[in-house]
Amino acid sequence: MADRISLLRRRMQELNLSAFVISSLTHLRYLFGFSGSNGLGVITEEHQWLITDRRYREQVKHEVHHAEVHIIQQDLFEPIKKRKLFSKGMRVGFEALHLNFRDFSRLQKAFPDVRLAATEYVIEKLTISRLPEEIEHTRRACELARRVWETILPVIRPGMTELDLSAEISYHSKKLGSERDAFEPIVASGWRSALPHGIASRKTIEYGELVVIDFGCVYEGFCSDVTRTVMIGQPSEEQRRMYEAVKEANRRAIAAAKANIPGAELDRVARDYLKEQGYDKAFGHSLGHGLGLDVHSLPRISPVSKDRIPADSIITIEPGVYLPEIGGVRIEDDILVHNDGAEVLTDIDRELIIIE
Ligand code: ZN
Ligand code: ZN
Repeated sequence: MADRISLLRRRMQELNLSAFVISSLTHLRYLFGFSGSNGLGVITEEHQWLITDRRYREQVKHEVHHAEVHIIQQDLFEPIKKRKLFSKGMRVGFEALHLNFRDFSRLQKAFPDVRLAATEYVIEKLTISRLPEEIEHTRRACELARRVWETILPVIRPGMTELDLSAEISYHSKKLGSERDAFEPIVASGWRSALPHGIASRKTIEYGELVVIDFGCVYEGFCSDVTRTVMIGQPSEEQRRMYEAVKEANRRAIAAAKANIPGAELDRVARDYLKEQGYDKAFGHSLGHGLGLDVHSLPRISPVSKDRIPADSIITIEPGVYLPEIGGVRIEDDILVHNDGAEVLTDIDRELIIIE
């Protein structure tokens, strides 16, 4: 974590910032290991502070080793003021995407003579290329997802509701050691499988339906994110064709992934193939996204992305085809990008599984 803080200091110098205020809880975990629900981080040239409230007095002793901890009674900005951490005219960066308006107003009021600078994606960009330890954590989160998948597969049957299956996923994830669900599991069957983000509902899973199952595990704060689609009963010709097209699009994109490829170009590999197969209008979302402490992070892998995919980044590859009359298919894998290719971290079979 000391490495992460020095990376941030270097970036602050480039941005001409003497101090940086961190309000994203995900970033507090990334920089300091703090997993509480209320806190503020401050980095200056000499100091690194974590400010939180009394509920976390004990917890910080276990979690936080690379910061001076300040426990407050009420106002998170109080210690900064009291210890005069910010001096007149200082340029102080804050996270425009994470500091809410109330806290921004407080900050402004508490330090009328510092220059506040709104920043975006400062820490997000630092986290794109992963340190070895962070790669290891995602590897473990992917391994957990594989084990969850193997555990729930025999449970899937027609007649159960999507919520029932979603509960099995969450239950077994925790039993196997996931800290929490990386996100609310998506279980979408039949007509609902054509909704790319169909969170599980009370709908019953029936014969003749495709079921899109998208879930993720969390290890030491780092997420995995995997989707498989299964068929209940024998597939129709069109359902089989859709499935094979998505599987091939996924394969082609993984084969094309390597360091420095533009996100838009990688997206195009899968999109062009699906277009050739007549599914251009049926693939309405991005090919993938960066994966880290947040499920959706940088780099972006979409037709309009301006990002390049750096070495040692972890991204998802998730082409899909959604036809309201027939259903949907998505196959999502997490890959680690190397200079000369990519390594699949979600080692789960991609052949169509038919559940009778
Ligand atoms: Zn997903
Ligand atoms: Zn995803």
